[in-house]
Amino acid sequence: MNILHVSAECYPIAKVGGLADVVGSLPKYQNKLGVTSEVIMPFYDNAFTKTHSFKTIISSKVKLGVFDLEVNILTLENNNLGYDLFLVDIPTLLFKNYVYSSEDTERFLAFQIAVLDWVIQRDKKPTIIHCHDHHTGLIPFMMAQSHKYSQLKKVASITTIHNAQYQGWFSHDKVYMIPEFDFNQVGLIDWDHQINPLAAAIKCAWKVTTVSPSYMEELKSSANGLESLLSHESGKCVGILNGIDTQVWNPETDDYIVKNYSQKTLNSGRNANKDWLCKEFNLDPEKPLFSFIGRLVGEKGADLFPKLFDTALEHLDINILLLGSGATDVEDALEMLTYKYKGKYNAYIGYDEKLAHIIYAGADFLLMPSRVEPCGLNQMYALRYGTIPIVNSIGGLKDTVIDVEGGGFGFIHHQLTVEEIVKTMERALVLYKNQKKFKNIRKLIMEIDHSWDSSAKAYINLYKSLNN
Ligand code: ADP
Repeated sequence: MNILHVSAECYPIAKVGGLADVVGSLPKYQNKLGVTSEVIMPFYDNAFTKTHSFKTIISSKVKLGVFDLEVNILTLENNNLGYDLFLVDIPTLLFKNYVYSSEDTERFLAFQIAVLDWVIQRDKKPTIIHCHDHHTGLIPFMMAQSHKYSQLKKVASITTIHNAQYQGWFSHDKVYMIPEFDFNQVGLIDWDHQINPLAAAIKCAWKVTTVSPSYMEELKSSANGLESLLSHESGKCVGILNGIDTQVWNPETDDYIVKNYSQKTLNSGRNANKDWLCKEFNLDPEKPLFSFIGRLVGEKGADLFPKLFDTALEHLDINILLLGSGATDVEDALEMLTYKYKGKYNAYIGYDEKLAHIIYAGADFLLMPSRVEPCGLNQMYALRYGTIPIVNSIGGLKDTVIDVEGGGFGFIHHQLTVEEIVKTMERALVLYKNQKKFKNIRKLIMEIDHSWDSSAKAYINLYKSLNN
């Protein structure tokens, strides 16, 4: 079985969020299970591509509407990722120092066409093309409907929805850029007189997955625009919980953190990481450290943070450290708070992979008051490093965290209000004050197995069920 994953992001080559972590690790675990799993992604101009060498395997042209654009398919040399990696280099469109931008319609359309052009030329044919999110959403449509790719009709297509908030809408004026399809079939990609790549993928892919079972149920039942489509297609839809790469995310070997530790050396290891954070960010190591890592957007509950942190810091004897970027009004408000709460609160506005790892290794609690959380990887990283998660009861968070009150290991709030979150933080403080119980729980959570082992198998069983 040959599986080709197609994605806009893949860790460590280019990462904006969890999509990269998943595409960067699932294929490795699939290969260990005896299938051949590869990844193809765009070639960006970033720190990774500047410092690694690539071999060109094909140079040709990709047709995007009236333009013939130069395209090179590259492969990573000296690859120790655990899967073969291919990159689509379209210098005029893709080779930028960012992943997403306002020109994404043309960029990702050209990328998808170039991927399929390469697939039909290549000797090694995939059994399954596994697409990720809306940037690859037109691939299942083109495989089924474009005459140019008619030889791919029997190749199965799968779409995994990592985040349905982003659907890739674009104007009908650009539909002519999609190669050689019968215009009677335009209804498959049209949605309210616009083109909706994610909806097209749900209609055309052989199977549709979400990154947690609860997220699939939420998408079918809540008012998000896709609910009736997903309910109609529910026979081919399934939620499979993401795993984490336990080689990359391993406190015993993680090169990013200040001091490595195992379950046995957890207390001293975590103290060293917490001390470093407190020194670096002028916080008090004697107080419990609550943290947040992520995009500062409504989905993550970030609009609540200024009031939430203000209220929590006013009433509770704690530290808070935030790492994230996003909405500028939220960023500004969070930076302003650093003046008011010097010595007990700090914020690093930006993206920093190393700092994220140290926070997982040194914070006492990780806040995830998400409004929408398709899976959420942060809580699984936190558990692996012995940090206790405090989460809203939503999506993948519901599938991975059990409250201390129910005999579990984390804290769950069922309403997304400042009052409820602060109350939940107070419950966490009660646990923190009982140091014996607190240390015992954080030791136990390191054992919870969220590795890809079982989810990679679930994907393979899904592939096998396709019988193509
Ligand atoms: P998302 O919705 O953003 O994809 P996930 O929980 O699925 O959320 O994955 C987020 C991933 O991105 C995690 O690996 C997290 O550590 C990382 N991350 C998010 N924001 C930052 C940041 N500002 N700096 C470093 N890592 C970050």
